Amino acid sequence: MTIMNELDRRARKKSAKTGASPAATGNQSCGFPACSHAGEATLDARPLCRNHFYDVATKCLKTHLENLQRSEATGALAATTLKSLSEIISQTTTLVVRAKFLSPWQQGQFRELSVRALELYKRVQRDPRVELNAPILLYREAGAAETRELTNTVNISKRGVCVVTMNSWALGEQIWIQKPAKPLRALARVAWIPQTGSARFPMGLEILDQENYWETELSPRPRIHKNQ
Ligand SMILES: [Zn+2]
Repeated sequence: MTIMNELDRRARKKSAKTGASPAATGNQSCGFPACSHAGEATLDARPLCRNHFYDVATKCLKTHLENLQRSEATGALAATTLKSLSEIISQTTTLVVRAKFLSPWQQGQFRELSVRALELYKRVQRDPRVELNAPILLYREAGAAETRELTNTVNISKRGVCVVTMNSWALGEQIWIQKPAKPLRALARVAWIPQTGSARFPMGLEILDQENYWETELSPRPRIHKNQ
């Protein structure tokens, strides 16, 4: 809902700025081989007709998603990904603004593309990470194949944590994390795991059911450790 509102806001802003004029691609035709349609949007400075824009942008999103499931998007990778996603969002918005040129079905398709790009954008742009090497317990719900692993964090963010693990976990799997000395546990989803054969590897977790699990660790105030 909030994402849709944000898209509408962006669309209105854009339409106010451009007077809902066609995308600034001049009279260039689609840059896709053997396509003679007019270029209606651009990706990477390449004019594309609406159908080829949709195809290329969808492939682009898929690649970004696959990259994000293999490693954490930081530094240069995050910057490139954000730039590409931002272009997809703005170009898609331009197409949606010109609604009278699009069939309702096409409009829905572009809106969906835009929402997916914005969700991914927010995921990459999420809260800053803070390096933290602290013990953490990982476990699956008690059951037949229970896995418990006492390991360490690498870094944390408001809704996430990168941990080192020696176990095999599945992408998208939900597991529990717990600070060893505290009873409060949090449900987390495996957000990314590298495709490496090493015995110990970092794994990214998204915290699902706690808003402020790292409240004290992320606090900017100097931390005072009391002996327990
Ligand atoms: Zn085309």
